[in-house]
Amino acid sequence: MDREATVSPEQTAADGELRKRLRGMLESGLETEVEPRAYDHDAVQSVVARLQALAPDDYEGKLRIAGFTLTPWRGEDEIEQACETCMYYVVHRRFCELPELMLPVEPEWSCRLWRI
Ligand code: SF4
Repeated sequence: MDREATVSPEQTAADGELRKRLRGMLESGLETEVEPRAYDHDAVQSVVARLQALAPDDYEGKLRIAGFTLTPWRGEDEIEQACETCMYYVVHRRFCELPELMLPVEPEWSCRLWRI
């Protein structure tokens, strides 16, 4: 998804800081719930409800519950799942617009709420 909305320099800088922080958490070994993937309605609702219960700035909780990885996820006989091919990814901002996440990400990152 790419939109023409302008992102201010301040927002870009804030996104960059937070993206760096998120990467740091993942690189330092934060364990995230990569599986089971959330494919059916009930599974998605369960993950989303847990995300909604978090404080907006509980970034560790968001990464953990959504099952973030720094590289694309690929299960057996499945297509590769990465932010850059997800319907929630905003290309020009490198940002995830899933309402329960709303996080700066990288194109090669992934999470279990990936949708094409
Ligand atoms: S929902 Fe997950 S895979 Fe999709 S853009 Fe957001 S973080 Fe990336």
